Amino acid sequence: AAKVITASKHKINHKLITQAALKTCDGLQKAGFQAYIVGGAVRDLLLDHPPKDFDVATDATPEQVHKVFRRSRIIGRRFRLVHVLWGSETIEVSTFRGHHQSEGDAETNDSGRIIRDNVFGSIEEDSVRRDFTANALYYDPKRQEVLDFHDGVADIRSKTLRMIGDPTTRYQEDPVRMLRAVRLSAKLGLKIEAKTQGPIRKLADLLEDVPPSRLFDEMLKLFLSGHAIESISALRAQHLHHGLLPLLDVVLEQPLGEKFVMLALKNTDERILSGKSSNPSFLFATLLWHEVLLAWQENQKRGEHMIPALHMAMNEVIDKQAEKMAIHNRYTATMKEIWAMQPRFEQRAGKRPYALLTHPRYRAGYDFLLLRCASGELPQALGDWWTRFADAGTDERTQMLLPDS
Ligand code: ATP
Ligand code: MG
Repeated sequence: AAKVITASKHKINHKLITQAALKTCDGLQKAGFQAYIVGGAVRDLLLDHPPKDFDVATDATPEQVHKVFRRSRIIGRRFRLVHVLWGSETIEVSTFRGHHQSEGDAETNDSGRIIRDNVFGSIEEDSVRRDFTANALYYDPKRQEVLDFHDGVADIRSKTLRMIGDPTTRYQEDPVRMLRAVRLSAKLGLKIEAKTQGPIRKLADLLEDVPPSRLFDEMLKLFLSGHAIESISALRAQHLHHGLLPLLDVVLEQPLGEKFVMLALKNTDERILSGKSSNPSFLFATLLWHEVLLAWQENQKRGEHMIPALHMAMNEVIDKQAEKMAIHNRYTATMKEIWAMQPRFEQRAGKRPYALLTHPRYRAGYDFLLLRCASGELPQALGDWWTRFADAGTDERTQMLLPDS
């Protein structure tokens, strides 16, 4: 049974809840269904962080939810849910998931991983399937009450991240939960409770089974959490990084590469913590750059010309990375543009610098160049030259150009 925690105890600041989330719960309740804000949003509200998005859980089926909201659509195959659209905000509504009673409902593979998961159930059953106690809280915005089946509120108050159920079994069902433990503990400043922490090192290899695109989604969240540096050091400490970014392993072992990646991550963390956005393509371009550099040199040693050698290197690195953690195509195109621009920054004669300034990705390419300088890969004077050139007037630019060689 659930503990019911009332407003005077949970002290949730109602102003942090968006109209879209309130209207979604209200619409479902008026249609006779249960509806709760659930998951990360409730956890964040209890920590007094503004949630970045809201999920709603209900006893209505996806079809019933879709009927309540004109602007909604049913999505997903492995896990069917409904997106309810309110202007620019989307609320994700999921039906309570239940236990798997008969064989054939629970579809797991040999290592115990859940592959399909569409059996509906009660709210209590739904809570048991969630990962951490802090993520299994249900908030009814109308009654302003939190339902707590696993003492999640107490864990949040004592800054503890605790797995629901037997941690080993839960990691075997879904190894991504190991990454979530690391990411959420770094992001929210929660300590991973001992039994939840215990099996991670031994089970780290299970991540190799996870489809590369799912790993990418999770790693992207980690890199864009505002706590990437802490998360990466925690991953390394727990031996979870092997195979995630196989190339990152190599990079972090070379002093220049490590410096470059850490500068890039620090940069990203600062942008995100100050409320700015960060471009995932830029970040992944930095993470893999030293691998590109290596392959580029090798291709040149084999006799390829500079520019074709670079393009070959870019493709080699992206293909190799895709075996473990596939970077979405929409990012790789921009990554390649940023990389391909780099040799052009070393040409400072004639018309070429002017042409580079008009490149649609100039800003990203330039920021990338500055990181290369800051990490010691290139002389700072080159970055400074471009900073000045971009700002200079016509005459000054002409004077700055190097003689044609
Ligand atoms: P974030 O703030 O980073 O979005 P989150 O906890 O909200 O963190 P989501 O991926 O948005 O993460 O998931 C929403 C909720 O779904 C979680 O709070 C948790 O209850 C449940 N959940 C997500 N992933 C898993 C998983 N791998 N296993 C079990 N439950 C999960
Ligand atoms: Mg979330």
